[in-house]
Amino acid sequence: MQNLSRRTENFSDSTIRRMTRIAAGYDAINLSQGFPDFPPPAELMQAMERVSHQPEYQQYAVLAGSPLLTAAIARKCSRFMGIDIPQEDVTMTCGSTEAMTSAIMAITDIGDTVVVFNPYYENYIAESRLCGAKALYVDLNRDSTFSLDAEKLEDALRQHPKALILNNPSNPCGKVFTYEELKTIAELVRKYDVYVITDETYEHIVYAPNRHTYFASLPGMYERTICCSSLSKSYSITGWRLGYTIARPEITDRIRKVHDFFTIGASHPLQVAAVTGLEMPQSYYDDLIRKYTAKRELLCSGLETLGLNPIWPQGSYFVMCDISSFGYESDMDFCVDMIEKVGVAAVPCSIFYNSPENRFIRFHFAKLDETLYAALDRLERIRILKK
Ligand code: GLN
Repeated sequence: MQNLSRRTENFSDSTIRRMTRIAAGYDAINLSQGFPDFPPPAELMQAMERVSHQPEYQQYAVLAGSPLLTAAIARKCSRFMGIDIPQEDVTMTCGSTEAMTSAIMAITDIGDTVVVFNPYYENYIAESRLCGAKALYVDLNRDSTFSLDAEKLEDALRQHPKALILNNPSNPCGKVFTYEELKTIAELVRKYDVYVITDETYEHIVYAPNRHTYFASLPGMYERTICCSSLSKSYSITGWRLGYTIARPEITDRIRKVHDFFTIGASHPLQVAAVTGLEMPQSYYDDLIRKYTAKRELLCSGLETLGLNPIWPQGSYFVMCDISSFGYESDMDFCVDMIEKVGVAAVPCSIFYNSPENRFIRFHFAKLDETLYAALDRLERIRILKK
């Protein structure tokens, strides 16, 4: 028989989801794959119930997504980004994963390159490969804020990439790009004529005094930016698979063509139910960040006490810990041992680097306080992993 595709030949399954499967086999507390174990806002659950009785929402939505939701996203994003977002620039997708893939496909041809900051969210590499594009890596500095090295970025941009992926706040390292860094990126992408594809999934999970700036809101940047985001984390509905792109009409037109043939559309009833989330008042977002600030404090200070050396994130609900003092050569072996012998699951960070890097593991803290306390309790035994 003929060979299967070269495009998929070197794909592994998602290590993040693999850790969840291994954790389940050992009944470990799962702080690997990032999703909440607490319920979404009650208003969203009620909206879902209401919509389930409305037959008009049980068939396909229009290609761009339910106009009720795209209008709500345009309103909400205009408010948060401080720029006027026309509803016509919004396209609903199946999670930000489809948003990113459609954006990459709308911009790149086979053989084009896409700049990715190192460490990166593992999906970007697979998404680029599916589009036939290659990643060009730019290391963030190895300091506690993963600061930007403008020279390294410029070196990469000199190689004529088509686009740059900007994950802000970043998964896995929790970096929030400063305004100054974003301005530097803006100057460089203008100079080298590069598109920017943002992933701003964690836009509402940013810890004071850090502040999130939407890249598209920088002067002149809207026209070369495809903003991708998701409702998963802002409203604790990862299973609803709702994401979106925002881009000027010429780019949106291409994204919709890809979207049409990939998935046709995201779930129509869930889109309608999600409008309730987008209409939440400011107090909802204040409350969300208050909750995550407390969870970050709880887990990170606990990890610190246990000698797990957390690098406190500036945003997102992930924290990277330095495990080099445990004497393991492989972070994967460490994570598997931690599941089996300690009963807590994390993600080996080697999957987020393109260079050999076995020093870090990633925990997430989108969990009930009691789950985090139980995990810390189990982690008291972490010393048994010392070699
Ligand atoms: N974004 C989440 C994480 O990084 C979930 C990813 C996934 O399911 N692969 O953990």
